[in-house]
Amino acid sequence: MIGIIFGPPGSGKGTQAARIEAEFNLKHLSTGEILRAEVARGTPIGKEAGRIMAAGDLVPDKLIVDIVRGRLPEAEAGAGVLLDGFPRTVRQAQALDAMLAEEGHRVDLVIALEVPEGDLIERLLHRAKVEGRADDTRKAITERMHEYHKLTEAVLDHYARQGVALERINGTGTPEQVFDRIRRAIVISSR
Ligand code: ADP
Repeated sequence: MIGIIFGPPGSGKGTQAARIEAEFNLKHLSTGEILRAEVARGTPIGKEAGRIMAAGDLVPDKLIVDIVRGRLPEAEAGAGVLLDGFPRTVRQAQALDAMLAEEGHRVDLVIALEVPEGDLIERLLHRAKVEGRADDTRKAITERMHEYHKLTEAVLDHYARQGVALERINGTGTPEQVFDRIRRAIVISSR
C-alpha cells in the first residue's frame, strides 16, 4: 500500500504517522524530518533548506523530489509506504505518480486530517515552547498556513480526480481518539 497522510501544519501528521507505521507495518517517510536531519548535520541540502524552512516557505520541488527519489525504492521494497509532508504541490504529486508508475505502483489512499485553523495555531505555538522548532514562530506559522492553502490543498483535488480513496478524518481530540478514527478508516478502506 502507498498511503499519504495529509493535513495542514499542526494537524498531527507526524504523531499519527508514527502510530500508523507501527500498527500497519508501513515505512514512514517524512520529508520534514529528513530535511531537519540535513539541517542538523549541516549538509549542503541542509544549508539550502534551513533558511527557507525557518521562514515557513516550501523548499524547491526539485530538491524535495530528488530526496524522495533516493528513498522511495527502499521504502517500496517493504509492505507499504506512508508519505508524510509529501507531496505538497501538484508538481510534486505528478513527480511522485511518475516514480511510482515506474514500479507499477500508485497512491492507494489519502488520509486527510481536518482541524480548525484556530486550534492549529494554538497547537503550534504550544509546540514552540516545548520543542523549539525553528519554524514554530508566529510569522513562520502564518506563512506555512498560507503556503498550505495556496499550494498544498490542490494536491487533494489532484488525487480526488484520479479516484484515489480519500479518508477525511476529524483531527481534534486526543492522539488516541484520532488514531482510532484513522485505524477504522484504513481497515474499512482495505476490505
Ligand atoms: P509542518 O507540516 O508542521 O509544516 P513538516 O515537518 O512537514 O511540518 O515540514 C516542515 C518544513 O519543511 C516545511 O514548512 C517546508 O519548509 C519543508 N518541507 C517539508 N516537506 C516539504 C515538501 N514536500 N516540499 C517543500 N517543502 C517541504
